[in-house]
Amino acid sequence: MLIGVIADDFTGATDLALMLARGGMRTVQVIGVPGAPLDLPDADAVVVALKSRTIPAADAVRMSLAAADALLAAGAEQIFFKYCSTFDSTDAGNIGPVAEALADRLGARMVVACPAFPANGRTVYRGHLFVGDQLLSESSMRDHPLTPMRDSNLVRVLGRQVTGKVGLVARESVAAGPEAIGARLSAIEADGGRFAILDAISNADLHAIGAAIGDLPLVTGGSGIALGLPDHWRRKGRLAAVPQSAELPPVAGRGVFLAGSCSQATRRQVARAEADGIASRRIDPISVAAGETTAEEIVAWVEAQTGDRPALIYSSADPADVAAAQDLLGREAAGAVIERLLGTVASSLASRGFTRFIVAGGETSGAVVEALRVRSLQIGPEIDPGIPWTATLDAEPRLALALKSGNFGSEDFFLKAWSMLK
Ligand code: ADP
Repeated sequence: MLIGVIADDFTGATDLALMLARGGMRTVQVIGVPGAPLDLPDADAVVVALKSRTIPAADAVRMSLAAADALLAAGAEQIFFKYCSTFDSTDAGNIGPVAEALADRLGARMVVACPAFPANGRTVYRGHLFVGDQLLSESSMRDHPLTPMRDSNLVRVLGRQVTGKVGLVARESVAAGPEAIGARLSAIEADGGRFAILDAISNADLHAIGAAIGDLPLVTGGSGIALGLPDHWRRKGRLAAVPQSAELPPVAGRGVFLAGSCSQATRRQVARAEADGIASRRIDPISVAAGETTAEEIVAWVEAQTGDRPALIYSSADPADVAAAQDLLGREAAGAVIERLLGTVASSLASRGFTRFIVAGGETSGAVVEALRVRSLQIGPEIDPGIPWTATLDAEPRLALALKSGNFGSEDFFLKAWSMLK
């Protein structure tokens, strides 16, 4: 194993696994901290998907260290801590505390942090993160239900989460290539810094970064920063030529769309699916918490739909509705009732023969995968940038899963994903 990855949520894990697979690495995704020694097919990269983005920082640190230990014991030469390309975190964590704990475990003196993913509109310039044309703090991320991002300056954001000093490798150095990046990292370290935010606004920047950081024991970032890593290992003669794109075995059976993301892209995708005539039910956390909406009733409704296209269950709502639910229930409880409900709906549908699940939302996907008791996944073809179809390696019958981070995917994502399986 060349790279052992620890991802802080499920959609982030599949997104990164897809990036490495497309770069020609044999990639397996494992769900949750591996309990026993890893027993997997031969792989160049193993991605451990945690659900640690918004749990208490001490728990995230404990789980991440346990995952790192399992990956190192299985031979990983580099540990990659993967988080969201919108740097989803609060001042309490968890990106900083986990990165710092991993650095201590690995004896890493310099830790790079780069969430940039230009293909998905995430760029970092002078340390500021942009989502498309907007600063992070002016994007819809400012109203995220769990991790509202109201500061775009990542040097500052990460600085509030770690004890070590944070520096910046600005675009001039990145554009000048791997040697200039390395020199700038050394300068930050000489100046007492332990962390560095890296600017990146293009894939060329990410390739240069990949070449510069390939030999560091610890890398942290979004999946964009992984773009240049397979080439690094190939240059070292450690990775074979690029294999054919990953095909999945066919999975037959009924499908369902589940959306627990309130991100703008998902809200548009929900509106588009409804406009395209998909049967849909909106669920509201207040009604779920009051026991007025139940999983049994939703499952019965989904089963009763007769069309040959999946039905859609969604809690996606605009910021005003999210705020109203959170005021009444509390932020975590509002999220938890929806996650629990959608998880129960998914497992109940699976026990009734549903085999294909298309899920929107990182935390939501985590809840669904947990409820379905999936342990490992094979990475298949790409639906939209960062979103592959996947198939379970261990569950019987085999399930097909498309797990989408809230802000990812084109407007027609739901039907596009479904039609790829036909
Ligand atoms: P994204 O990938 O867009 O961040 P997530 O699924 O990670 O989506 O996070 C969305 C969070 O918001 C989840 O915890 C979900 O349960 C919660 N949520 C979903 N719908 C609502 C709602 N109507 N009101 C409040 N919280 C909600």
